[in-house]
Amino acid sequence: MIELQVDLGDRSYPVLVGAGARHRLLEVLPTGVERVALVTQASIPVDVDPGVEHRTFTIAEGEHGKDLGTVEDLCRDWAQWGLNRGDCVVAVGGGVVTDTAGFAAAVYHRGVPVVHVSTTLLGQVDAAIGGKTGVNLPEGKNLVGAFWQPAAVICDTDVLATLPPREYRNGQGEMAKYAFLGVDGLTDLPLDEAVAACVALKAEVVAADEREGGRRAILNYGHTLGHALETAGSYDLRHGEGVAIGLVYAAELALRLGRIDAARVAEHRKVVAGYDLPLHLPPGSDPEELLALFARDKKAVGGTTFVLDGPNGVEPVKVTDRAVLLAALDALRPT
Ligand code: NAD
Repeated sequence: MIELQVDLGDRSYPVLVGAGARHRLLEVLPTGVERVALVTQASIPVDVDPGVEHRTFTIAEGEHGKDLGTVEDLCRDWAQWGLNRGDCVVAVGGGVVTDTAGFAAAVYHRGVPVVHVSTTLLGQVDAAIGGKTGVNLPEGKNLVGAFWQPAAVICDTDVLATLPPREYRNGQGEMAKYAFLGVDGLTDLPLDEAVAACVALKAEVVAADEREGGRRAILNYGHTLGHALETAGSYDLRHGEGVAIGLVYAAELALRLGRIDAARVAEHRKVVAGYDLPLHLPPGSDPEELLALFARDKKAVGGTTFVLDGPNGVEPVKVTDRAVLLAALDALRPT
């Protein structure tokens, strides 16, 4: 078992990574907790026993379940049960469950403790760590939320065995990102060590910049094109697949801006291909549409800000040259 820590002063918390980690839930529950509200989804075949009185609350699948209606349902169900601030919410699921249950925990009784038992690869290396919680509005994803750090996170690598292959690859898209943020040799590590290495890096970034005032932006590496492809909406792409293409794009862009050399671009392609993720834009992609979507990205302030690799590592860079943006897109055209 690998035990890590997200260092945030009196809100610091442990992250347990490894096979069977979920069986250590009781020991990471906040002291004195007598009741646990387990929040999960019907399709998640993960058995979790908090070791204290508990009830299970099931939310809907997918992004549709991640909305204010679900938060209201959870809060009302908890109120009817009599859940109070001395109790604890335990979210058992992927990013949809931890984001939604985490946000409900942040606002119920003005905040009750939450522990995340993350059951997807994407959740374990990313969504469950760092305290960003939230839900979608019809107007856009993640528009309502709060920073609410969990009391602990459990990343049990055993439970990933039942993940559908495409969900696993989805997580590998986020994982690939970490290979360029400072986790050397990531692709050669055994699964639990690879997850732990990603968690350690995310923990370090979150500890340095909890509310995304600066350094935390590097976690968006590969995401500008990834988000644009997701927003364009007409492609059958999971988030991690979009990020994978976005990583190759960021490398092609950095090459054209003289920030990295061709060998480093090749490294990006090798890591992405090694995870069996796409290297090219989906057929029929419209470069002009993608450029328009870049400009609407939430990180765009007076130009399009990309997170790019370079001599000082990965950092936000404003790119204004349309020709460069288009040339890098051209390098990703399906062959
Ligand atoms: P998800 O939560 O929808 O899970 C994917 C599917 O896998 C679901 O159908 C789920 O029921 C199923 N599943 C989960 N665990 C399983 C298991 N062990 N075995 C079998 N099936 C299982 O998707 P996700 O990719 O984990 O999360 C995506 C969400 O995470 C998005 O809403 C995104 O916005 C959010 N996110 C949040 C952060 C953050 O920092 N808070 C970061 C990245 C992503």
